[in-house]
Amino acid sequence: MNLELDILVIGAHPDDAEIGCGGTIAHYKKRGKKIGVLDLSNGEPTPFGTVEKRMAEAKAASEILHLDIRITLDMTNRYIENTIENRKKVSEVIRKYKPNILITHPSNDWHPDHIACHQIVNAAKFQAKLTKSESKYPEYSPKYVFYFDHSHLKDKNRKLDFLIDISDSIEEKINALKVYKSQFVDNKKYLRIFDYIRERAGYLGYQIGVNYAEGFINSEYLLVDFENFKF
Ligand SMILES: [Zn+2]
Repeated sequence: MNLELDILVIGAHPDDAEIGCGGTIAHYKKRGKKIGVLDLSNGEPTPFGTVEKRMAEAKAASEILHLDIRITLDMTNRYIENTIENRKKVSEVIRKYKPNILITHPSNDWHPDHIACHQIVNAAKFQAKLTKSESKYPEYSPKYVFYFDHSHLKDKNRKLDFLIDISDSIEEKINALKVYKSQFVDNKKYLRIFDYIRERAGYLGYQIGVNYAEGFINSEYLLVDFENFKF
């Protein structure tokens, strides 16, 4: 039987999934969930990267997070667009791996690839449920789509809707980012990112009485049951 995923995280470039929700991925992997990452592009060119380096870095990060699968699509870095062809590429992955939860970029961002990824994922979620399509897989509809707390836009109005406790997985998140050496170590501009990620997770964790947390945005009402709360 094919691998079926609980969660599929979709980013425009390798490292977006790790920055956005690497802690949540590691946290739920420790609880036996099946989790995959889909990168729309290989992320190149960048100032200090090569395709070979980026692929090796993404592989090392996937091993640290214990991902069940990582797929890199062939969309063009810097020029990703929400086309019908691209939404079909993503919807084929959704149909094949049947994730319950999709996680991707928020709508508001300076990076056009991130905005396009947000739009492609929403369109692909819809595309995946269509019957009588040309897909070789049956229709499938993920239950949820959430947006992670990571964007080039320092949005002063951004509101998060819920937080996930990543106290047991903050180190995996930082370590998974450190292997993206071409992005965050060779490029001295980003050296502070590891401190920033830890501080942000610490700040969010403090809001809910845990050491570290990651934040998420959702667009639809969520069902809450008080019986699931820890009183
Ligand atoms: Zn990116």
